[in-house]
Amino acid sequence: MAENIRPFTARKITPNTWVITGVGCETYLLLGDEMAMLIDSGMSPLDLNAFCRTLTDLPIAGVINTHGHFDHTGGNGWFKKAYMHPLAVKDAKRPFGDAAQWKLDYEIETLEEGRILDLGSRRLEIIYDGAHSLGSIAILDLDNFILFTGDELDPGQVLCNMSGEPVPGQSVENHQKNMRKLKARWDEYDIICPGHNGTPIDKSYVNDFIIVDQMIMDGVPGREDITSPTLPFSRPDGCLRLNYLGAHVCYNVNSIFEDQLK
Ligand SMILES: [Zn+2]
Repeated sequence: MAENIRPFTARKITPNTWVITGVGCETYLLLGDEMAMLIDSGMSPLDLNAFCRTLTDLPIAGVINTHGHFDHTGGNGWFKKAYMHPLAVKDAKRPFGDAAQWKLDYEIETLEEGRILDLGSRRLEIIYDGAHSLGSIAILDLDNFILFTGDELDPGQVLCNMSGEPVPGQSVENHQKNMRKLKARWDEYDIICPGHNGTPIDKSYVNDFIIVDQMIMDGVPGREDITSPTLPFSRPDGCLRLNYLGAHVCYNVNSIFEDQLK
């Protein structure tokens, strides 16, 4: 194994939920009564399906991608099918860097808001919440009180249109609207499983992101300390960071409000 390729490890975070690390994002293997399902597949060249086989004997229905960024979709090709929002499809098979090493010939089935997938006594509801990526969904595990949030809510930082390109939907204002949508389901989850930077986390992050988004919209000045060990780039022009408690948002001053993006 090449030195720069991390082997997979796994730990259980609930009796029927594994988190797999070494994949490139927090990758979850959900066990239902009848089948298993992966949430996100990371970006490792190693055989993720073979590793999942060591964790369960259940048939694995496929992968649900929280969004189309390749650090969440790069391992999809080890599985026969990937489920994702229609707006994630164009990104999902677009590798970061060299395309040759990735298996990209898998089937895609799109998931719309409100769709419920049942793994057998484990129902997963799809909630659309695109802002970091317009193809984002949150996945609400209705029978186990878990909310999977991908990159729209994570304890490191949420990146909101760092480029400042005028892409409708990628504003701090829209991110807050989506957080309020997750807040409206507050009584239906106890923990949050995000896409990076440690898992699980407390659901109070939903409130904290609503507050920090509001602080940005109210004109509280952000800081320039965008560079961090978890970000593979230095600060793009116009980008600032603001936090409230553990909720950090990195945003561009030209994409705070939706009407800046028309
Ligand atoms: Zn992302």
